[in-house]
Amino acid sequence: MPITILDYVKSVVGDKDLYTAEDCLASGVDILGGCQGCHATIACYNAYPSTSGYWRCADCIGTDGFAAVNDFIAHEAAISACPACGNTDTISETRVTTGEHAEGYVLECECGEVWPL
Ligand SMILES: [Zn+2]
Ligand SMILES: [Zn+2]
Repeated sequence: MPITILDYVKSVVGDKDLYTAEDCLASGVDILGGCQGCHATIACYNAYPSTSGYWRCADCIGTDGFAAVNDFIAHEAAISACPACGNTDTISETRVTTGEHAEGYVLECECGEVWPL
C-alpha cells in the first residue's frame, strides 16, 4: 500500500504512541479530511496523499499514491513554489478542462503564472 498521511506525520514528529491534532498541524497537514473519490471522511491514519494533491481513502487511492514518504515530500516541494516568482503562499489549485472530455488540475499563482500539476 502507498503511504498514509500518518506515515508522513511520523517522519516529521518522530515515533510516538499517539498522534494528536497538534502533531498533524506541526507537520502541515490536517487530522481530518475528505476522500477526493468517494467523499468519505478520512483521518490522517487512513488518508492516502495522492499525486493530484488531494487525500483519498484506501479504496480510491489506486495507483495515485506515494510509495515512500520521501516521494511525497519531493512532490510537495515541487508544487509549493511558483516557477515564475518563487512565492509559496500565493498558489491555488484550479480544475480545468484539458480536452473535450478530460479535466485536470493546474496550479495558479497570484502573479498570473499557471502551470500543470
Ligand atoms: Zn474514497
Ligand atoms: Zn508567482
